[in-house]
Amino acid sequence: MAAPGPLSLNTATIREQWSLEQAIEGCQRHGISGISPWRDKLGQCGVEKAAKLIRAANLTVTGLCRGGMFPAADAAGRKAAIEDNRRAIDEAAAIGAQCLVLVVGGMPTGSRDLPGARQQVEDGIAAVLEQARACGVPLAIEPLHPMYAADRACVNTIDQAMDICDRLGTGIGVAVDVYHVWWDPYLPAAIERAGNRILAFHVCDWLVPTTDLLLDRGMMGDGVIDIPAIRALVERAGYKGFCEVEIMSAGNWWKKPADEVLKTCIERHATVV
Ligand code: ZN
Repeated sequence: MAAPGPLSLNTATIREQWSLEQAIEGCQRHGISGISPWRDKLGQCGVEKAAKLIRAANLTVTGLCRGGMFPAADAAGRKAAIEDNRRAIDEAAAIGAQCLVLVVGGMPTGSRDLPGARQQVEDGIAAVLEQARACGVPLAIEPLHPMYAADRACVNTIDQAMDICDRLGTGIGVAVDVYHVWWDPYLPAAIERAGNRILAFHVCDWLVPTTDLLLDRGMMGDGVIDIPAIRALVERAGYKGFCEVEIMSAGNWWKKPADEVLKTCIERHATVV
């Protein structure tokens, strides 16, 4: 099997240790050629300054995390979400991001209407898609593991995301994160269907046991996901981009020195991805 695409650092991986400025410098120092910032850190740094630093470091921005969170209990909430996504698209364009990652949102508080939430997601994406196309920033729907359907993302499989893409047309695709899709018995067919609409490939690992729904993600190689098998599927589908490491780990990796985390990412990227 050929070597994986180049490594990109999703800054969530060292969220507790480093600012965006430090992450940019750290990538450069460790020879990591891609970065995927989160908007909170981007805001703290300032979009223009970040764009300048990223250009100077010659980093590829494999994504901006994140847009989405479209469903809301009332029209004012949905409008606010759409406005926030418009700002996210502008920020993604400003830093030259290859896509804006969408964590689409779950059900409004108190709601039991899952189909309704899914419709709100599609309506929200449709409302901002024209701007994304005009800015040259593709929207990457990231299907999340179904355990997040209520509170983070009610798009839970690649097929479901592709159905939305098929209905909405160009300028939209998917981010394939092994953490969220590895369990899917129909994964090979779904990835083949996604084909050239795979805009990003995220890696980490599924720990057994997982002790926190959100913040207990594993380093590649420490869990049960056959990452090379999934990488082979996305590559066979035509994906030629980066492997973006995204590990939210409150109990382990966020407590280690960031340089050690990056060294481990580099080593595991070379050996188990
Ligand atoms: Zn991801």
